[in-house]
Amino acid sequence: MNFELTEEQKLFADSVRRFALAHLEKDALKRAHTSRYPFEVAQLMAGQGLMGITIPEADGGVGGTLMDAVIAIEQVAAVCPRSADVVQFGNFGPIRAFAEHGTAQQKARWLPDLLSGRMVMSLGMSEPGAGSAVTDLVTSAKPDGSHYVINGSKVFSTFSPDAAIFLIYVRYGPGLSGIGSVIVERDTPGFNIGQPSAFMSGEQWCELHFDKCRIPAENILLGPGGFKKQMSSFNVERIGNATRSLAFGRYAYNTAREHAMTREQFGRPLCEFQGLQWKFAEMAIKLEAAQLLLYRAATNADRGLPSAYETAVAKAACNVTGFEVASEALQTMGATGYSRETLVEYCMRRCRGWMIAGGSVEILKNRIAEHIFDRRFDQRPSRKAEAAE
Ligand SMILES: Cc1cc2nc3c(=O)[nH]c(=O)nc-3n(C[C@H](O)[C@H](O)[C@H](O)COP(=O)(O)OP(=O)(O)OC[C@H]3O[C@@H](n4cnc5c(N)ncnc54)[C@H](O)[C@@H]3O)c2cc1C
Repeated sequence: MNFELTEEQKLFADSVRRFALAHLEKDALKRAHTSRYPFEVAQLMAGQGLMGITIPEADGGVGGTLMDAVIAIEQVAAVCPRSADVVQFGNFGPIRAFAEHGTAQQKARWLPDLLSGRMVMSLGMSEPGAGSAVTDLVTSAKPDGSHYVINGSKVFSTFSPDAAIFLIYVRYGPGLSGIGSVIVERDTPGFNIGQPSAFMSGEQWCELHFDKCRIPAENILLGPGGFKKQMSSFNVERIGNATRSLAFGRYAYNTAREHAMTREQFGRPLCEFQGLQWKFAEMAIKLEAAQLLLYRAATNADRGLPSAYETAVAKAACNVTGFEVASEALQTMGATGYSRETLVEYCMRRCRGWMIAGGSVEILKNRIAEHIFDRRFDQRPSRKAEAAE
């Protein structure tokens, strides 16, 4: 067992760090407070080989490992937290499921623009009536000659104001086996995108409405029965989400550490007060522990797809750690931490969202409990009880 990065991984981390310091550090504060997708950063990253890290070279990607992509997020986030979203959307987000399951024709059509940073893809999974219970989704796809007709609505899709294409979870028929996914282009007739709303983090999302929206059959990504495949690719998205949580917590911690060494009160630096030393010690323990869980899930990923259990453990640990550490870091900086002059408050707000997005901490704990007891716990009311009423 080795807890160190390999020489190759260290070299890669150094090169990403140098790139980030040279190109992303200057406007890090401004970028964090801009809600739109930073296409200029995406194009810079494409030039640096940071888009499609885990996508095969044959598809225009880099052909690297999931761990390489994790390292890229960590190094970028350490310099410019907001830019880590680009690493996410260029590697871990809907693009990963698309590259995994897309046909040669679909990939030839959209991957070049996605990997060059000229285009971003948004994920439409959640619906007004289907959040944690995602399999309750009702957005339907019905065949009609050479087309499919989509009807329904989606909510909370990140970067929907900027996306040119959308990966939409749909229902072809009843039950779990009726779920799959399609690609919808922004300007398709019958696809209406609502006005942007904002999350607490400042990120924007729009309601997506499909009203007799006709898409060609070539835009089917996964047909009926595709849900399980979709979810195994979604575990990659969860790793990216976990990595950003941890990296943002670490960014806040490092900023607070510098502050505690330089800010003086009562005639001595803050780091000399034991009450604060213990806060930092606790933050360090949490960060180190969550990092090992994250690296385990990413390193053990088979064919780039991590195990559902290891992903759930890593994401729950990183989500909670990122938020708790960012919040404690803010506390140790007083009003400076609470102010928008540093990115500590931003890191805390972003980390809070990841405790909900991509499988909330509670839903992950349900998954972990199933592993512990080696049985499935149906979250729905029992049919027997319903029948007796
Ligand atoms: C920052 C952010 C970005 C997002 N980006 C996207 C995106 O790009 N695309 C997209 O489709 N969606 C996106 N979402 C939506 C996200 O997937 C949902 O918010 C999530 O699935 C939870 O659904 P919900 O918000 O409807 O909460 P609900 O499902 O209504 O849950 C409410 C609360 O109840 C808890 N809960 C629910 N069921 C159980 C249970 N069985 N056991 C224990 N606790 C339970 C939940 O954990 C939560 O705390 C995003 C959300 C956030 C916050």
